[in-house]
Amino acid sequence: MAVDLTKYVASIPDFPEKGIVFRDLSPLMADGTAYKQATDQIVQFAKDKNVEMIVGPEARGFIVGCPVAYELGVGFSPARKKGKLPRETVEASYQLEYGTAELYLHRDAVKPGQRVLVADDLLATGGTIGATIDLVKQLGGVVVGCAFIIELDALKGRDRIKDYDVLSLMHY
Ligand code: AMP
Repeated sequence: MAVDLTKYVASIPDFPEKGIVFRDLSPLMADGTAYKQATDQIVQFAKDKNVEMIVGPEARGFIVGCPVAYELGVGFSPARKKGKLPRETVEASYQLEYGTAELYLHRDAVKPGQRVLVADDLLATGGTIGATIDLVKQLGGVVVGCAFIIELDALKGRDRIKDYDVLSLMHY
């Protein structure tokens, strides 16, 4: 029996600042049945795409992407914030509400032509996943899909990734 994943999302008004409703997925991740169900749904989405590598942005993208990589028997490469990766990297910047931020990927994290699924916990404006896709493309990887547990429809992040096949398990 499938569980209702929305029951495992805690919605916190005015966090981290006034006007934002933070969708906290830690109850979902703390429940073995819900976490496995969410992972299995992403695995199903990935299966017919011949995914060879998963890339997820720091930090909750790791929690979503790694169990999918394990189940598919493929690798996982972390897209990380400034100063975290010790070897040669590529870099992509994206817009924050105030200013910009950067994400980095090791130069050998994705091989040219490799079929990559990008995964994160939540799609909001699409800035984070857009930068993650940019990094994969800089390395010659082929993004074959984007997977999220939650999508915030009003922020229209999907418009930024309309060229890709997108899976979101829940919509708010
Ligand atoms: P964006 O780059 O605007 O698509 O934002 C997506 C990233 O920010 C994801 O990695 C989320 O973890 C985080 N995020 C943005 N908005 C929220 C929110 N309302 N609740 C929880 N996480 C969020």
